[in-house]
Amino acid sequence: MFFDGIKGQENAVHILKKALQSGRLPTAYLFTGPAGCGKMPAAISVAASFNCETAPLACGSCGSCRLHNAGTHPDLTILKPSEGKRWIVIEQVRDLIEKAYLMPMLGKVSTFIIDDAHTMNPNSANAFLKTLEEPPRTSRFILIAPDRNSVLPTISSRCQNLAFRPLGRKIIEGLLQLKGIDGKRAALLASMARGSMEWALDYHREEIIERLADEFEPLLSPERADSNLLLDLANRWARNRADALKILEFMAQWFRDMLIIAEGGFEDQIIHTAHLPTLRSGASQLGGYRLSMVLESIEDTRDDLGHNTNVELSLDNLLFKIRKFGKMAENRI
Ligand SMILES: [Zn+2]
Repeated sequence: MFFDGIKGQENAVHILKKALQSGRLPTAYLFTGPAGCGKMPAAISVAASFNCETAPLACGSCGSCRLHNAGTHPDLTILKPSEGKRWIVIEQVRDLIEKAYLMPMLGKVSTFIIDDAHTMNPNSANAFLKTLEEPPRTSRFILIAPDRNSVLPTISSRCQNLAFRPLGRKIIEGLLQLKGIDGKRAALLASMARGSMEWALDYHREEIIERLADEFEPLLSPERADSNLLLDLANRWARNRADALKILEFMAQWFRDMLIIAEGGFEDQIIHTAHLPTLRSGASQLGGYRLSMVLESIEDTRDDLGHNTNVELSLDNLLFKIRKFGKMAENRI
C-alpha cells in the first residue's frame, strides 16, 4: 500500500521518502510523467505520510492512512476538471484556495492534489498563483501533469519538479495480468502502451487490437484491398505520428505471427490467436520469403516515421507495397 504499491518508480519514490524523512518537503510539487505511471498514488502516499500516526512515512494501517486510502480524509482534496469538462475552471480553484487557508480538520497538514494541472486555464492558473507564492503554513500542493512544459511557466517555476519515468514493458504486462488480462493480450497491450498504464487500459477497453486486426484482414486480398480502401486507411492512421507508430508496431506483430506459421514455428508463440484462420491463409498465400519482405517494409516505414517524413505518404507506400506482395503471391510471380 502507498509507496510500496508503486511499481517502476524507484527513483521518484526514493526522493519522496527521503524528503519526508528529513522533513524538508517543498510546499508545492509538480509531478510529471505519462498517464498511469504512478503519479497519483505517489501524491496520495505523500498526503497520507503527512498525517500518519507513525509519520514520517505512511504506515498504511492507522485510521488516518485508511481514510487517505479510501480517498475520504477531510484534509485531502483532489481537484480535476469536472465530469465531461476539459478545463479546471476558476470557481473550482477559488473553492480550493478558500479551503487551503483553513486549518486542517483531522491531521496536521492539508494536501491539495491538482490532477491534470495542465487543464487549468490561464484564469484559473492566475487565481492560484498568489496561493503558491504565499502558501498557507498548514497546506501542501501537488500538481500532476504530463510534462513540465504543459503547465504555465508562472506555475511550474514555483513548484519543485519531480519526473516519473514511463513504465517498462514488463511492468505494464505484469500489472495488466494482475487485472485479469491474459498473458498474450497483456504482452501486446504493453508493447503498444509506450510506458503508460492508462493507455494500455484504454486500448484494452476500446478493443483496439480487435479493430486493427479487422482493418489488416483485407490487405492481402487483391479483390478487397482496392486503392480507395488503402488510401482511406493511411489517411486515418496518419492523423497522429505517435499513433501511426503504434499501429506499425502492431502490424509488425500481425505479420510476424504469419511468418511463424509459414516457417512451421510453434503456434503457441502466436499473439493473435483469435485470428488464426486469417493468419494461416496469409501465411500460405505469401510464404516465408515474402512475409520477411513485408516485415522489412514495415520496419523501413517505422524508420521513416522516426524522421520528419510525411506520415500519410509513408503509410500509403507501405500499404500499396503489402498489396503488391499479395498480388504477386496470387499470380505466383
Ligand atoms: Zn498511518
